[in-house]
Amino acid sequence: MNIEEQSSQEDFSSELIIQALGCSPEATAIYTSENMIIRFANQGMLEVWGKNPNVIGMPLMQALPELEGQPFLGLLQQVWHSGKTYSVSDAPVHVNKNGTMMTDYYDYEYKALLNEAGKTWCILNTARKVSSRREYLERIQRKEEKEQSLVEEMAATMEELSSTNEELNSSMKLLEESREHIRTIIEQAPVGIAMLQGPEHIIEVANPAILKIWGRTLSEVEGLPHEHARPELIGQPVNQWLNEVFTTGKRRTNNEFSVKLLYKDGLREAIVNSVYQPVFSSSGSVSGVLVILEEITRQVLDRRSSEKDQHMLLMAVEAGELATFFYEPKTNLFSGNALLKAWFGLPDAHDIDLNIAFSSIIAQDRARVEEAIRQSLSNSSDGNYFIEYRIHHPQDANGRLVQARGRVFYDIEGNATSLNGTLRDITEQKKDEQRKDDFMAMVSHELKTPLTSLNAYLQVMQRNAILSGDQRLQGTLEKSVKQVRNMTSMINGFLNISRLDSGKMLLTQTNFDLKELFSELEDEILSTVHTHSVVFKESEAIELYADRDKISQVIHNLIGNAVKYSPMGSAIIVSCLKLQEGKIRIMVKDNGIGIDKQDQEQIFERYHRIKNPSLGSIAGFGIGLYLCREIVELHKGEIRVESVEGSGSTFLFELPS
Ligand code: ADP
Repeated sequence: MNIEEQSSQEDFSSELIIQALGCSPEATAIYTSENMIIRFANQGMLEVWGKNPNVIGMPLMQALPELEGQPFLGLLQQVWHSGKTYSVSDAPVHVNKNGTMMTDYYDYEYKALLNEAGKTWCILNTARKVSSRREYLERIQRKEEKEQSLVEEMAATMEELSSTNEELNSSMKLLEESREHIRTIIEQAPVGIAMLQGPEHIIEVANPAILKIWGRTLSEVEGLPHEHARPELIGQPVNQWLNEVFTTGKRRTNNEFSVKLLYKDGLREAIVNSVYQPVFSSSGSVSGVLVILEEITRQVLDRRSSEKDQHMLLMAVEAGELATFFYEPKTNLFSGNALLKAWFGLPDAHDIDLNIAFSSIIAQDRARVEEAIRQSLSNSSDGNYFIEYRIHHPQDANGRLVQARGRVFYDIEGNATSLNGTLRDITEQKKDEQRKDDFMAMVSHELKTPLTSLNAYLQVMQRNAILSGDQRLQGTLEKSVKQVRNMTSMINGFLNISRLDSGKMLLTQTNFDLKELFSELEDEILSTVHTHSVVFKESEAIELYADRDKISQVIHNLIGNAVKYSPMGSAIIVSCLKLQEGKIRIMVKDNGIGIDKQDQEQIFERYHRIKNPSLGSIAGFGIGLYLCREIVELHKGEIRVESVEGSGSTFLFELPS
């Protein structure tokens, strides 16, 4: 109830008012006079102060000395004088409650009650404790603050989240990029790769390499179960293997496996290496099979054919009873087949020092072999190696004569890397030749005497025929003399060989003019050779110290061969010239069949004849050139041939003058 209204409308007694205020739920007190004598304080106000009713009648500051230093007295006096109500909310009040200073918060009001003269006669003080409201507000504030910090925290988290999100995005991008990368790798992989998904082996990925092997296009197989996409595999084990890998989770690898694959409209036999790798899902179960396929048909066939070649070569080497050798100049090590090791009495090791093998070559031949190897490896050589030498070692009582043939192999820079070749045991062959030589020497010798007599008889008959003028007889006798001369030269050849072998062929060297010998030879040849045009080139006078007959025999032999091995009517040119180094060169050039490179090295060997079925049979024993070389070498000269097969040959020999 409003006191002001009461006082203005009805005249209630002070006691009545006080009674009424006593019942007010609000803490109420009434002060009078300037000292603020407490006239009234209800239970509520006493509780606010923490005092008992004894304080009533006391000046406020005496009753509550703890208010000293607080604004209340000043405020009350202001209200007293001004008559204006003062009210405040949430103001702190420090009071002593049972000896403890406590602070509470109040909304309070000082209201001046005026008398008729307009003067303050008392002040009505009401107060409402608002600590709990304040606490509530503080709680709210704290909550708000908390909320605020939560919001801030959340904002930070959001920020973090968004940056994480960005990171996630970039990781996703990276993931996508690496997926793309893997896809490119699979696409470009040189081996076939396919990814089969699920128990039906649905073809999810098949790169171009695997499609090529399969003989299919992507559109034919993509998304289809493997078994349906490739019906050509029916009856073949692949689908069975895929099922096994899927159910057992065990990888399967096949090496050099033969499979029939689709090719054009039919099937082709292919050889492949394959891997079937189970792919596991995150739960650990098999989710698919990764197929890696490599076709090796070509390589395997090549290898098999090279194995076949090797086998054939080995058979040939074994059948020909050839020893093989491989020598590496860089390390001076060499190796060879079992036969080679047996012949040289070598251990069964792979790489053997060449010097160990050399100790099995007989002392007289060793230097020659060394030189032949050195020569074949030298830059000036054509890389061919050919030599005959004797081997003798303690385990081989008789020793053997071998013929070695080899070829040098070079690296891309042209350096000799190895000398490889074969050895042939020619001991028996040489013995046969020896027997042949001995026989021929004997026969020749036996024939020579009757032939000399025959020649003498023929010459007598020739003279008689000239005297009697019997032309026919003269012709026949001339032919007979020619044949006897041929036979004589043949027999002389055999005899020379046997003399050569027994070291009995001696040179009778004299000084003579080569020009003169040429003109004699010219007369003789022109009178006997009518099938070819033999031209002796004019030369200056050339003094030579040599065995005249034997040099004449060499030129005769070379012209005879030129006639034998070139077509009728073709030209044969005989010439000589003086070389700068004081040497004399004699040349016989024909336009005949020529000699290939390989044969050029061998035609100077004894009994060597070129087997050329297209030529039919041309009489000869293969000793003419051998004899020529022996004679030239006895003069410390050299003989060789320059020829291109089919385009004629030039035989030339050089002698020291
Ligand atoms: P032959 O008695 O067989 O003629 P040679 O020792 O004189 O014996 O010659 C050896 C081989 O060299 C001959 O069988 C022949 O194949 C070849 N030959 C020799 N001279 C010539 C030439 N001028 N042209 C082609 N081939 C030749």
